[in-house]
Amino acid sequence: MQMKLTVLGSGSFISGPERAASGFALKLPKETIAVDLGFGSFKNMQRSGIDCAKVNNLFFTHVEHPDHINDLSAFLFVRKGLADSGFSEKNQVNIFGGPGLKEFIEKMFRLFPLFENLPFKVKVSELEPFGTKKFNGFTLTTKPMQHRPSSLGLKFEAGKKSVVFTGDTEPNENLVELSKNVDLLVAECTFATTEAGGHLNARTVSEIASRSKVKKLLLAHFEPEAEKSDLKALVSRSFKGEILLARDLMQVSI
Ligand SMILES: [Zn+2]
Ligand SMILES: [Zn+2]
Repeated sequence: MQMKLTVLGSGSFISGPERAASGFALKLPKETIAVDLGFGSFKNMQRSGIDCAKVNNLFFTHVEHPDHINDLSAFLFVRKGLADSGFSEKNQVNIFGGPGLKEFIEKMFRLFPLFENLPFKVKVSELEPFGTKKFNGFTLTTKPMQHRPSSLGLKFEAGKKSVVFTGDTEPNENLVELSKNVDLLVAECTFATTEAGGHLNARTVSEIASRSKVKKLLLAHFEPEAEKSDLKALVSRSFKGEILLARDLMQVSI
């Protein structure tokens, strides 16, 4: 096994109390990273036993929506408290996202002035819309998604294993390309049958996963309509691989 995914938030913007908003932790060979930190997901990071002081690389699929980035402030504030109190090392935090990330972080730091004096360095990097970046032990490939200006699909590869995060998006060819033959596609499935702009539903996720020949599909980011439906039955119409329905604190080996 090369990677292990922990679901920190399986919900969307109007999920009930049993689901935090979107967030994931990905255990890679040399470190654990976070992909999105929507509201509630930071508490689930703590509940899952992951030491936030050792999560030094954070990746965001988009910055415009609190259900994907709200708990970044909680993450930084807790890290500050732990470091100031001598409970943790003062490791640098690296934050990655699409265009607009730097402006977002500058605004957030102005809103919370104590972030100007964090006891550790914070490095903010905007990723190339079509890019590949090598890290210590893994590679990240990005492609623009169709949702908001900062939206990126993120593919992480380590050894022979690969996982793609759709973030929020409408169906698009970049997502099909990015997801080709990956071991796991973590896909938003906001709706069951509603055809609405900006998001995927069971039909579009199913078609994308089928065309991309992904090995395993993890559905997340549910609206109530999706939660009440038999999503597995709907998604298996086109996609014949394994389908998992995300729930908070669930772990998936990749
Ligand atoms: Zn969302
Ligand atoms: Zn969104």
